[in-house]
Amino acid sequence: MKVIVIGAGLGGLTLAHGLRRAGVDVVVYERDAASGRPQGVSLHVDERGMSALRACLPPAHFAMVEATTGGPREQTLELSCSDGELAVTGARPCDGAAGRARPGRQVHRPLLKAVLLTDLDDVVRFGAEFTRFERRADGTVRAWFADGRTDTADVLVGADGIGSAVRRRYLPDVRVVDTGRRMIMGATPLRAVLGTGLPGLIGDSPARVHLHGTTMVLGVLRFTEAPPAARKRWLPALRRTAAEIEDYVMWALPATREPAMELPPALRTIVGEAWPDFTVALRGGMIPPPPVWPARPVTLLGDAIHLAPGFGGNLAMRDARRLCEALAEAHQGRLGLLDAIGRYEDTMRRDGFTKVSA
Ligand SMILES: Cc1cc2nc3c(=O)[nH]c(=O)nc-3n(C[C@H](O)[C@H](O)[C@H](O)COP(=O)(O)OP(=O)(O)OC[C@H]3O[C@@H](n4cnc5c(N)ncnc54)[C@H](O)[C@@H]3O)c2cc1C
Repeated sequence: MKVIVIGAGLGGLTLAHGLRRAGVDVVVYERDAASGRPQGVSLHVDERGMSALRACLPPAHFAMVEATTGGPREQTLELSCSDGELAVTGARPCDGAAGRARPGRQVHRPLLKAVLLTDLDDVVRFGAEFTRFERRADGTVRAWFADGRTDTADVLVGADGIGSAVRRRYLPDVRVVDTGRRMIMGATPLRAVLGTGLPGLIGDSPARVHLHGTTMVLGVLRFTEAPPAARKRWLPALRRTAAEIEDYVMWALPATREPAMELPPALRTIVGEAWPDFTVALRGGMIPPPPVWPARPVTLLGDAIHLAPGFGGNLAMRDARRLCEALAEAHQGRLGLLDAIGRYEDTMRRDGFTKVSA
């Protein structure tokens, strides 16, 4: 069996590792160049994402991810500010209930991406923008790329994120709705903000600071093992520069048209000392659940088909694991190909959309 994956993001690369380990021929086509582009700084990865990585990655890759997470995050702290001083006023459990985060750990996103790309040189084709596909009479699927390239496989997987060209071609009625939510997200070296007292106050927990009717989100990533040492121990093939990162504070602020609000001194320092390269502006979107579609040799995973603010990466990696398991069964002849894809899509629709729309 051969599988073409469009998109070398979290979901597409997790799937590629899993399929390769299952003996399936897989090729990933990625629009960006190998140097990539900034896609945010850190991710809260919960058991859905971690168990997918554990199942799909080679053991040394997974050990590298595990060694370089932050500490356990089991509650979200609520902070308020009085006379410029921040204080913890409460805590909510990370229990996944009522839209709350699940227990998890913070992961440095560019490092995770670099780990996922390690040892996939023969699988990932960069600078290849997918444009369209055609289903052929023999049951295979042919994919076209902007530079005129084509490739043919038994299955085409759209793992090409929120603007998915595969989704637009395959399920043209599925639309991304702009929620109007805008955020600015950044990261600041921990050493630059130690004097503010904030890192000691919040520890490893995510924190929400309530300010003038808005909320700033913060989280300190103290690597369990320094990434350069972990690289040496677990994954020397990892690009050396990918491991050159120090402990930091990530933060996210809603972007509004209101005049800039006055931040308390600790938060002013955090925003003022941020690394410019990691500061990104985000816009919120959602995909209303579409009607069920029949299984065909084209499918979608992750943000290409469902959007989940704050946990879409976990869902993309879980989709990848589930699709990988289903395709591996088809590859071994224990399940028909369309039955395998249908089984995956049933679980993806059930779990991806109910959480998003809840
Ligand atoms: C700032 C920020 C913070 C976030 N925090 C969290 C968090 O804490 N926890 C969490 O779980 N999630 C988080 N998310 C969401 C998470 O990043 C996404 O849900 C996740 O990246 C989706 O993975 P994916 O593989 O579906 O798509 P992506 O990771 O977006 O990958 C899609 C890939 O497809 C490529 N592509 C697109 N079009 C084409 C084409 N035509 N041809 C070829 N390639 C193409 C893109 O270049 C990209 O590499 C966050 C997102 C952002 C932006």
